[in-house]
Amino acid sequence: MEPTTTWNGVLVGVYVLAAFSFVSLLFFPAPYGRHDKGKSGPQINTRLAWVLMESPASLVFAYFYFTGERPFEAVPVLLFLMWQLHYFHRSFVYPFQLVVREGTGTTLATALMGAAYCTANGYLNGSFTSTYGVHLNAEWVRDPRFIVGIAVFAYGYFLNKQSDAILRNLRQPGETGYKIPHGGGYRWVSSPNYLGELLTWVGFAIASWSPAGLSFAVMTAANLGPRALSNHKWYRKQFADYPTDRKAIIPFVL
Ligand code: NDP
Repeated sequence: MEPTTTWNGVLVGVYVLAAFSFVSLLFFPAPYGRHDKGKSGPQINTRLAWVLMESPASLVFAYFYFTGERPFEAVPVLLFLMWQLHYFHRSFVYPFQLVVREGTGTTLATALMGAAYCTANGYLNGSFTSTYGVHLNAEWVRDPRFIVGIAVFAYGYFLNKQSDAILRNLRQPGETGYKIPHGGGYRWVSSPNYLGELLTWVGFAIASWSPAGLSFAVMTAANLGPRALSNHKWYRKQFADYPTDRKAIIPFVL
């Protein structure tokens, strides 16, 4: 079945949003965490913000997947599990693992924008995986794109989770400040969690060979590329002894 006009319209909208986000985030980092200057309007609890932002990607994907045409075929099931492996964790586990600085919150506008994008993303990818991706049949299991995509996804997933765990363990109970992270991907870059996230979705895009997956990989790069540059600049300014050979997001390059 061919994608509907609505689906194509949302896809184009995501690319427009990615271009806009990339340019604006180069100059104005999204106001949360270390880049929150407290001047961007009302704030909400940070854990609630993460659930609000990320859960539509899990739930909306599941809705369009199960109301689609092939929710019980092998390849769509594998892609569904890959998606939910990341997003169920990100929506309902990660927010409760965070060590949140006391007295800080997340800007409501950031949370609402994140939720709107995750809704669109869940719709695009859930309906493509189950309905529009007619090539995702039993033969696809042996396609090199599927195998390479899963390998890239798996490495990205590991790097993202390992890097997030290193950050989480930097603060002892009661501590609120920032420290220099070491080990894992931090040997090479300041934001290996972002590099891992990017590889996760590049892997998913290759494995599903889908315009919806590609739009998500592009959106992730548009969001996290500029933020990685801002984080890197922030670390170098903040810590006089920051490792000089560490790059921002691409080892040995950027
Ligand atoms: P950050 O690296 O900014 O922060 C993650 C957590 O670690 C926060 O609790 C933060 O505290 C804490 N932290 C960060 N650096 C330090 C440090 N040097 N010392 C002590 N604590 C630290 O990540 P994000 O919040 O931007 O992202 C979290 C996850 O979400 C990542 O895995 C990322 O890939 C993913 N993400 C994905 C996006 C996408 O487009 N697909 C968009 C945004 C995020 P504090 O909050 O106090 O700064």
